[in-house]
Amino acid sequence: MKILVANIGSTSLKWRLFDFSNNAERLLHKGGFERVTDYPKAIEDCLADLKKANAIASESELSAVGFKTVIAKDVTGCVRLDDRVLQAMHDYNGLAPAHNPPYITGIKLFAQRMPKVPLIGLFETAFHQFAPEASQRYAVPDSWLKIGVRRWGFHGASHKFIAERSAELLKRLDVAESARQLYVHHGASKISGAPLRVISCHLGGSSSVTGILNGASIGTSMGMSPQSGLPHNNRVGDLDSEALPYAVKTLGISVEEAQKQLTKQSGLLGISGVSNDVRDIADAAAKGNASAKLALDVFVASTRHWIGSYFLQLNGADAIAFTAGTGENSASIRAAICANLENLGIKIDAEKNNVTRATETVISAADSAVKIFVIPTNEELVVAREAKRFLEANKN
Ligand code: ADP
Repeated sequence: MKILVANIGSTSLKWRLFDFSNNAERLLHKGGFERVTDYPKAIEDCLADLKKANAIASESELSAVGFKTVIAKDVTGCVRLDDRVLQAMHDYNGLAPAHNPPYITGIKLFAQRMPKVPLIGLFETAFHQFAPEASQRYAVPDSWLKIGVRRWGFHGASHKFIAERSAELLKRLDVAESARQLYVHHGASKISGAPLRVISCHLGGSSSVTGILNGASIGTSMGMSPQSGLPHNNRVGDLDSEALPYAVKTLGISVEEAQKQLTKQSGLLGISGVSNDVRDIADAAAKGNASAKLALDVFVASTRHWIGSYFLQLNGADAIAFTAGTGENSASIRAAICANLENLGIKIDAEKNNVTRATETVISAADSAVKIFVIPTNEELVVAREAKRFLEANKN
C-alpha cells in the first residue's frame, strides 16, 4: 500500500511517499517545490518526480493522498476530504488564515487530477480531542462555546509522534501501542503499569507545548487558533483579550490592520526587530543586540511557563521531549529552558546537549530523574499511518 502525504503551503508543495507493503513502513521518496506560482503544474511535477524515481509507475498505484489538515468546524480526527469536510474547513478559514485556504485549494486540485484516489485528512486538532473538558474550555458564556470559541490545540501529528516515540524510548511499549491506537479507542486505553507522563515541546516556526499522559494529550499551549500559546516566528502567541480593542482605538488602526500586525509582525520578529528565524536572532543576540536577546528570553520564559503547567498537572514528568526546527537544533535554547530545574529532578547534560543536527538523543544527565530527549518529529508518517488505518477500516 503506497500513501502519498502532501504538505501544502500557500507557495510550496512538499511530499513524502510511504510504502506499507509486507507490514513494513518505508519512505520511498520525498521532495518539494518552493515559490510555487502554478499549483496544478506543481502537482504534475510531483507525479513526474515520483515516476522518474521509480517510486510509482502511475498515480493509480496510490492508495490515498494524506494531508495534515489544520482545523474544520465540527470535524476532527482522520476523515475523507469530501465536499462536506472542505466546507467545514472553509467555515473556519478565519481561525487559520495562513493554512486553511491553501489546503482547500490544493485538495481540490488533487481531487481534479486524481478523482479515483481517496484524499484523507488528519486534522491537527485530533490529538487534543480527548483532553479533559477543563483544559478545552475558555471561561466564556455558552453562546461563545457554541460557535467554537474553545481551546482546540494544534501540532497534533507532531505531538502524537512524540507520544509514541517517547514511550518506546522509555521502554513502555504498552503506552506506545495505546498512543498508536488513540483514534481507534477514542482516547488512551487502560495501562497496567505506572502512568507515563511526557511533556512534548514542539519548537519551530510555530511552537506549542503539550502534556501527555499515557500517550494522550491532557492539554496544550495553543488554544482556539494557531496564533495563541508561545510566541511564534511572526505571530503573537497569547495576548490579553483587551489588548486588541485597546490597540485599535489608541493606535487608530483598523481591526484588519491590527490582526495583520499580530499575525505577521509580532512574535519573535516583533520583539527582536531582526528576523523571524531563531538562528538570525541568536546571531544578533551574540553580537550584543538587546532586543534580539529579549526575544529569546521571552520565548524561553514562555516555554518554561507551559512546561511548568504540565509538570504540575501530570504530577511530575518521566520525560521532556524537544522537537521541530528549534527544539531539534538549538542546544542553547534547550539549555536555557532546562536551566535551574535541579530541584524538580530536571538536569541537562551540557555535553550530550551539544547536538546541533537533528538526531534522536538523550540529553539529560545520568542522575536526572526526568529524561530529556531530542526527537526529530515525523508528522508525515503519522498522517500516512492514520490514512492507512482509515482505508483499512472503511474498505467497503
Ligand atoms: P515550521 O516552519 O514548519 O515550524 P520547522 O519546525 O523546521 O518548520 O521550524 C523552522 C524554524 O526552526 C526556523 O524558522 C528557525 O527559527 C528554527 N531553526 C531551524 N534551525 C535552527 C537552528 N539550528 N537553531 C535554532 N533554530 C533553528
